[in-house]
Amino acid sequence: MKRLICLLIKNCTWDGKVERELNYTIQKLAVVPELNEYLNSIKSIELRHFKDSSLLGSYIPPQKKIVIYTNNIKSIERAIFVFLHEFAHHIFVTSNNFDSSYNENIRNSAYLREEIKADSLALQLLNKHFSDYHIKKVVKIITNGIECMEEQLKEISNQWVCHWNYNFATYSTNSSVNYTVHWMNVRNEVVSTENYVL
Ligand SMILES: [Zn+2]
Repeated sequence: MKRLICLLIKNCTWDGKVERELNYTIQKLAVVPELNEYLNSIKSIELRHFKDSSLLGSYIPPQKKIVIYTNNIKSIERAIFVFLHEFAHHIFVTSNNFDSSYNENIRNSAYLREEIKADSLALQLLNKHFSDYHIKKVVKIITNGIECMEEQLKEISNQWVCHWNYNFATYSTNSSVNYTVHWMNVRNEVVSTENYVL
C-alpha cells in the first residue's frame, strides 16, 4: 500500500494523531481485497485546516482526492467516519454508480441520494471494522442525519422514500462486497433495487 496521507499542517498534536489513526484505518480496510483496490485508486488524502466549520471533508472526483479538515473534527471516531464517507463517494464515483447531476452546493434529490448512499456505506464500514472504537455517538448522529435527508428527499420528490438494505453476508477475503439499495414508495413497496458489487 503506497503512502497516501499528506499532512499540510505541521507541529499540531491533533493533526498528527488524526494522521496516525487514518493510516491505521487504511491498513484495516486494505485487508479486504475489494476495498484495497479502491484505496489504491485514491490519488491523495490531504489533511488541512479550513475556516468554514461546517465542512469536515470533501472528495474531488477529477483528482481522486480526499481532503479532511482536521480543525473542524473533534474526535478520532468522527475523523474515521469522515474519511469513510469520502471514501464511499470515491467508491461510487469510481464504479460509475454516481449521479452526475450531483452538486455539493445544491440540495437537490441527486445530492441527497448521493449523500445518503455515502453515509450509509460509511456507517456499514464503521460498524464492520471499527466496533472496538467508541462509535455509538457518531452512529447516532449519522443515523439521525440520514433520516433527516430521507425526509427532505421525500418532500422534494413528493412520494419517494428510500430504505437501505445492505448485504455483507459474503464479505470475506475471497468474495465480493455486495451492497443493495431498495428504493421504496410511501406504501413501502419496492420501486427499484440497485445492486452494487464493490
Ligand atoms: Zn458527502
